[in-house]
Amino acid sequence: MKVKKIIFIIIAIAIVIAIGLAIGVGGKKNKSNAKYNVIASNFASYDFLRNIIGENKDIELTYLIGPGKDAHSYDPTVQDLIKIQDSDLFVYVGGEMEKWSDKVVDSLDTTGTEIICIADFVETMEEKEVDGAEELEHDHDYEDEEEHHEEVEEHHEEHEHEHEEGAFDEHIWTSPENAIKMVNALEKAMEKIDSENATKYKENADKYITQIKDVDSKIQNIVDNKVRDRLIFADKMPMQYFIDYYNLKVSAAFDGCSTETEPSAKTIAYLQNKVKEEKIPVILYIELNPGTVAKTIADETGAEAMQIQTLHNVSLDDFNKGETWVSLMTRNIDVLKKALQ
Ligand SMILES: [Zn+2]
Repeated sequence: MKVKKIIFIIIAIAIVIAIGLAIGVGGKKNKSNAKYNVIASNFASYDFLRNIIGENKDIELTYLIGPGKDAHSYDPTVQDLIKIQDSDLFVYVGGEMEKWSDKVVDSLDTTGTEIICIADFVETMEEKEVDGAEELEHDHDYEDEEEHHEEVEEHHEEHEHEHEEGAFDEHIWTSPENAIKMVNALEKAMEKIDSENATKYKENADKYITQIKDVDSKIQNIVDNKVRDRLIFADKMPMQYFIDYYNLKVSAAFDGCSTETEPSAKTIAYLQNKVKEEKIPVILYIELNPGTVAKTIADETGAEAMQIQTLHNVSLDDFNKGETWVSLMTRNIDVLKKALQ
């Protein structure tokens, strides 16, 4: 799989270079009518830029990964690579989640493109071990030994790779503090590519930051009046920055970046016990997941299964409705109230 991916990227880059030579080098080749093309890899950056840009018709903003998909399994297409090469501003997060990004940034001719790794603007942390989360080596039921060996080997390989590159928890957008830092960094980037509209960008950014602070204080108010402090995710848990920011505790079926969705019986039993022991009223599952496991645990324990928005991505439906970081985080207020109070 990995070799295939690398070959794909090399071929894609070769095609991009060939197209570049065919059209003739020199200047950006914007195909749209927009004056500037801006691309954001993940949803939070896209949403912040959308709010900073506001009504400005000179900017074409693209959400690269797109709604309704798992950000971890995205790989750029040839068209994506051409778009990135021709853009004026390209924003990515990097890390394990966007392994492709460094290769793309290093290999493309991006002269004239402002490139921002948004994780550089917040204080990142290493991925923490989540209470209850499954580890591949120990908890899996393998159909045959050979498959087991393969998976364990791959796991080790990834670990070495992570250490080399300095792995970090890339789900940075989940804390309001980081969200504000991201908005400020993206506003500066917009000023850089389009200084004429600097005042408007600053105004829009400040307006959005006020909204983020408002949701933050509503959630903080719930946390201040909590009767318990543990959230249970019968799912992946890509919200460690959020958990730390509000000083909460968490148990989950998987860590933030797992591609697994079916926890083992052992994990389900562990979470069920936790729910019973601490009389936890809500079992969480994240966006883009039907919540089957959460509902199973809820049925067993008398708790309620509820969806929490991690802003990792949005469903196509929510995207079409124009939901934002602020509107989706606002949806979490009721969920957190039930879970913590
Ligand atoms: Zn993730």
